[in-house]
Amino acid sequence: MYNTKDPFNTSQIQISKPAVKQNVKFVKKLIGKNVKLSAVVKGNAYGHGIEQMVEIFESFKLTHLSVFSAHEAFRVCQVKHPNTQVMIMGWLNDDQISWAIENDVEFYVFDIDRLSEAIKRAKEIGKKAKIHLEVETGMNRTGLEEKYFPDAIKMMSENLEHLIFEGMCTHYAGAESISNYLRIKDQIELFGRYLEEFKKHDLVPNIKHTACSAAVVSYPETQMDMVRVGILLYGFWPSRETFIHYLRSNGFNEKGKEKSSDPLKRVISWKSKIMSLKDLPMGEFVGYGTSYQAPKKMKIATVPVGYAYGFSRSLSNQGRVIVNGKRVAVIGTVNMNLMIINVSECKEVKKGDVVTIIGAQGKVKVTVASFGEMSNLLNYELLSRLPMDIPREVVD
Ligand SMILES: *Cc1c(COP(=O)(O)O)cnc(C)c1O
Repeated sequence: MYNTKDPFNTSQIQISKPAVKQNVKFVKKLIGKNVKLSAVVKGNAYGHGIEQMVEIFESFKLTHLSVFSAHEAFRVCQVKHPNTQVMIMGWLNDDQISWAIENDVEFYVFDIDRLSEAIKRAKEIGKKAKIHLEVETGMNRTGLEEKYFPDAIKMMSENLEHLIFEGMCTHYAGAESISNYLRIKDQIELFGRYLEEFKKHDLVPNIKHTACSAAVVSYPETQMDMVRVGILLYGFWPSRETFIHYLRSNGFNEKGKEKSSDPLKRVISWKSKIMSLKDLPMGEFVGYGTSYQAPKKMKIATVPVGYAYGFSRSLSNQGRVIVNGKRVAVIGTVNMNLMIINVSECKEVKKGDVVTIIGAQGKVKVTVASFGEMSNLLNYELLSRLPMDIPREVVD
């Protein structure tokens, strides 16, 4: 089982259930009543903890969950309600295909090998495989290419007693950036054509789904029957552009209104404590090497969280954390087990004071990749790299 409390850990994670509630409500409003919402819980639920998030999503009546691998699906199955559906969008091996069929786990099919294996395994078990055919529309990652359609159509048509054609799907190559607009538009069009091609052969999927968070917001026509949403449910925008698109299409144009109109709530907060403090004379270098030199007399502190604990080394001299209600800078390189921060501006700072690495103290927030300063992709990366052994406590 998973830990919720571990007093020995150097940091703690809290998961806010009311925040998830708000985000689910927001996404549901975006997609309307007739579109199903699949909550993406891959990457240990974007670092939030699969087990905790499954329970929370189910409590808000979400009954479809998407994962990347059979391993993640297995973890979901250990805790989920029997009626909740699980869909594997990526990896499973041949034996795991049998496991999936036996356990009513849906899975992507994006090549002929997997299709034939699914049919073979379904025959053996005597139960239909519930498949989502992922077609290649331009992402060029997984996805069945058009040249294999005739084979797929033949195999599927001849084996309908072993298959449930549950879904047809694709994934967009960067819907979070307007610079990919033409590429996405082409993908949307191709998906429509491919759907018709299968329909012509009486192969009609139960549902069609293509949209991730960014597509839900910026390309509403991609919502179809179901959307696969991750990052929004955890309270982060896929990119600043996506947020701006949302604001503008909802009539918020004025500068400064942005903050108050962000409908999302961060779910995670990650906290540690000040381990030690030092006064530093002007001109001294901090930590390994010479990447940070004190421009004046400073007060600095160490925090027992480093890259081995999921705080990326790329945040060296870049990251921000909150101490005593103030945003303060990470200075020098992030070490394996600790980082050094500049607390010169914090009054009465002392050992043991709370350091918020992700989350808020009062009105002050840190979102990992603070808007504008760093790539938002850092959110996805840093969240999903949060080590599994940091305790995750769900708070109401
Ligand atoms: C990760 C992923 C999603 C969800 O992406 P978000 O940007 O977090 O909403 C949807 N579909 C596929 C195939 C994915 O890999």
